[in-house]
Amino acid sequence: MSNQLSERIKNLVPSATLEMAAKARELRAAGKDIIGLSLGEPDFNTPDYIKAAAIQAVNDGYNSYTPVDGYVELKDAIITKFKRDNNLDYGRSQIVVSTGAKQALYNIAQSCLDEGDEVILPCPYWVSYSDIVKLAGGVPVEVATSIENDFKMTPAQLEAAITPKTKMLWYSSPCNPSGSIYSKAELRGLADVLQKHPQVIVVSDEIYEHINYGVTEHASMASFDDMYDRTVTVNGVAKAFAMTGWRIGYIGAPEYIARACNKLQGQVTSGANCIAQRAVITALLEPPSRVQYMVDEFKNRRKLILELLNGIPGFKCNEPQGAFYVYPDISAYFGKTLNGKKINNASDFALYILEEANVATVTGDAFGNGNSIRISYAASVEEIKEAIARIAAVV
Ligand SMILES: *Cc1c(COP(=O)(O)O)cnc(C)c1O
Repeated sequence: MSNQLSERIKNLVPSATLEMAAKARELRAAGKDIIGLSLGEPDFNTPDYIKAAAIQAVNDGYNSYTPVDGYVELKDAIITKFKRDNNLDYGRSQIVVSTGAKQALYNIAQSCLDEGDEVILPCPYWVSYSDIVKLAGGVPVEVATSIENDFKMTPAQLEAAITPKTKMLWYSSPCNPSGSIYSKAELRGLADVLQKHPQVIVVSDEIYEHINYGVTEHASMASFDDMYDRTVTVNGVAKAFAMTGWRIGYIGAPEYIARACNKLQGQVTSGANCIAQRAVITALLEPPSRVQYMVDEFKNRRKLILELLNGIPGFKCNEPQGAFYVYPDISAYFGKTLNGKKINNASDFALYILEEANVATVTGDAFGNGNSIRISYAASVEEIKEAIARIAAVV
């Protein structure tokens, strides 16, 4: 009966990161000792002060539908956060709370894109951008970057990619998967190009904002006066607060886009989970310094994993400035045969490592850049040491 499915769903590819995690689970169930470095998920517990706020909300009887775009108290906490961390001024009518940043991105695509509209995606991009855009009828336009440029798009590359059909530019900074961060000056360079193309809306995904290793200061595209009215700032609590399963993300946007997302969400989810929303009020109003201990630990692991990977011939790493991934270029292995297995591309390499070293990573092909694999270091020091030793042993 699968031919009864829509063309839309038949053309949709499953999330590569979730698929790799499922595959690792399967092998583990079959008795294999798999180390999972594929999923973008902190290995910390949600902090106790945030859990306490959720328990309080349960006991206080928060169990009804919330406003579609989020509790007013949460919107106000988000407004406070945007002002405090990003010097951005938003009003309540510009904020929409969603079921994760992922749904926020989906809402934006459905609200802004018509069939055939082009969306510029600097590669590597976050795994779901391309399919979220396609689901809305948009056409992803991939802009290749390379490790030589720290995986960042230049203004000249942006200019060259813009056509009369270009509707949006989507990027994440800090970037998942490369860990690169666009400095304020670099964002200004992109904004200067966009001044010549007023039809282009920017989606700035800042979900790793707080996971920053202190070299490049976080900057928001919307903080430029001439970009504010055409930028949607996306953020969420999943990564910095170790709250992936709570499913809360949000946007600050031009009012007409926020209204559109609110209308769509009212027909799709009716709003995000009430208890999680109450907990996020606390997460955002407490100073971000309360979660710095996780960033410090990620920083130690980054140092370790870079040292270990740089010791393996054929692995070339940039130094990630944020998030918790390394994105080594492993194209030196293409065309080689390892243990009788031909490696033609990054997908072959990731599969080889899974099968031979029992380490789950993600192929760069999933991020629109096929020379690398993504390795998450949101894992214990012991796991990282063991995983990299195993990889080194089979290459
Ligand atoms: C994890 C992630 C998201 C999705 O966040 P959720 O709040 O879990 O939906 C969005 N963008 C990037 C870059 C991410 O890494």
